[in-house]
Amino acid sequence: MEKTLVIVKPDGVQRNLIGEIISRFERSGLKLVALKMMTADEKMVEKHYTLDPKWLENVGNKSIDSYKKKGLTPPTEDPVALGKEVLARLKKYVSVGPVIPMIWEGSQAVAMVRKICGGTEPLSAPAGTIRGDYTSESYQFADADERAIRNLVHASGSVEEAANEIDLWFDKKEIMDYRVIRDIIINDKDWKIA
Ligand code: ADP
Ligand code: MG
Repeated sequence: MEKTLVIVKPDGVQRNLIGEIISRFERSGLKLVALKMMTADEKMVEKHYTLDPKWLENVGNKSIDSYKKKGLTPPTEDPVALGKEVLARLKKYVSVGPVIPMIWEGSQAVAMVRKICGGTEPLSAPAGTIRGDYTSESYQFADADERAIRNLVHASGSVEEAANEIDLWFDKKEIMDYRVIRDIIINDKDWKIA
């Protein structure tokens, strides 16, 4: 079983999409084991995105690749500089209003949640995903306005990232450990009806 962190970002809260977002994870068979509403200050947002020392470079490279794939010239060829700019924008965006951090648990939860959310850029995220369905945000539009890509949700990118992020956002006592019948239906190899 894996645990993964999801955060409904401030635009998700403001757009009344909390229930819609939660229901997509619920119906996937994953189990909700922690949830709260809070505001995160800029320091918290910076901590969150710098838990992984490679994140700055990775986020920069992803943005540069996305420009090139579309035949466009990226604003810079320096991934770390671009990553720093993205971080500054994220600090403003994610701290602007309340957010809903939650933990979802299940078999291969990290990959399942990423699939349900869709890729970072809503414009190219497939229809049927949270990011693909509810906004048309793109790298170019965000860059033109010098703001973060408003993509409604955060989802941990790997099992290791999830563990570090869960530690940052939740106390151990806030995380529930409980059984539901569907655990058996989904995961038990000896499941029988009668
Ligand atoms: P993900 O949230 O899909 O894991 P990243 O970890 O790469 O994506 O980036 C974190 C967040 O930073 C994204 O969800 C998005 O809100 C924002 N972001 C990423 N790249 C850019 C960019 N080039 N310009 C503006 N915002 C960005
Ligand atoms: Mg990420």
